[in-house]
Amino acid sequence: MKEIFLRRLGEILNSEQCCTKENMGGHTTFKVGGPAEYYVRPKRSQIQPVLALCKEFDIPWMVIGNGSNLLVGDKGIQGMVIEIGKMADQITITGNTVIAEAGASLFSVARQAAEQELTGMEFAAGIPGSIGGAVVMNAGAYGGEMKHILKKVTVLTEEGQEKDLNLEELELGYRQSCIAKNHYIVLQAELCLTKGNKEEILNRMAELRNKRREKQPLEYPSAGSAFQRPEGYFAGKLIEDAGLRGYQVGGAQVSEKHCGFVINKENATAADIRQLMSDVQTQVEERFGVRLQPEVKFIGDF
Ligand SMILES: Cc1cc2nc3c(=O)[nH]c(=O)nc-3n(C[C@H](O)[C@H](O)[C@H](O)COP(=O)(O)OP(=O)(O)OC[C@H]3O[C@@H](n4cnc5c(N)ncnc54)[C@H](O)[C@@H]3O)c2cc1C
Repeated sequence: MKEIFLRRLGEILNSEQCCTKENMGGHTTFKVGGPAEYYVRPKRSQIQPVLALCKEFDIPWMVIGNGSNLLVGDKGIQGMVIEIGKMADQITITGNTVIAEAGASLFSVARQAAEQELTGMEFAAGIPGSIGGAVVMNAGAYGGEMKHILKKVTVLTEEGQEKDLNLEELELGYRQSCIAKNHYIVLQAELCLTKGNKEEILNRMAELRNKRREKQPLEYPSAGSAFQRPEGYFAGKLIEDAGLRGYQVGGAQVSEKHCGFVINKENATAADIRQLMSDVQTQVEERFGVRLQPEVKFIGDF
């Protein structure tokens, strides 16, 4: 059964696009995570046939982009991980409209938009995700969010149909959209930007990049802010006020530089990170009555 599945997969993808027992630590910015049973990197046109094959063989699947918002369990992932990244990263700019395939990095899209003197994406240039991941999470920073620039998103449904979703249908909220709950795959996004001044755009991007370097522990593996911002509070401030700056479990640590970040300080396991996050939730709730919710998505077996 497994051999037949792999043979059929080999009819869709070349040998460099698929592997088994792939270590997920190499595909996440936390640099932790056990093996994915099957790991594939399809081009856009290959995503639908891969999905159909998984359905035929009853193989569970999930999609990742740049793995910058994920904590993968140490025991890995049963089934298939579909990476939508460099194999599907075309960017086309016409007038004020940017059409980017889901695998394009936010940095590349922002950079190319700047080259075309288009403003509106500066906020996203330093977020280390893909367009697909940014749509799913409605990624945002420094007052900007994907919601402000998205016009339309093309998704693939579980049944293998392509479908366009407008802004309203995307149900974009704070770090959420309708994509995950419907198990859609983002194929491409259409963004609407506005004409600006190239020098000003590049300066703003550099300014935000410097702010990140100054405030965030970018020298360590992490997944950015570990917790969502609770209404009326800042997660980092609550964690700091709970006396948890530098708190450590195994190789995982609440960053000393920015308490909202959990970092992989020294060979952390996913279990260390999960335990640390759970301790932080408990202690913050005990002190302030606020239950922090993870922004990071936990996937696979722990
Ligand atoms: C140093 C650092 C700083 C960060 N700063 C910010 C910030 O300022 N603002 C912010 O919002 N986030 C930030 N993040 C978090 C992260 O970069 C964003 O959430 C980003 O949008 C995730 O994109 P990704 O491609 O890495 O998605 P992944 O982490 O790979 O996946 C995230 C979710 O999206 C799903 N997904 C990914 N691609 C697709 C697709 N094509 N179709 C369907 N589902 C898909 C996955 O299944 C998963 O549920 C930061 C992370 C780091 C490491």
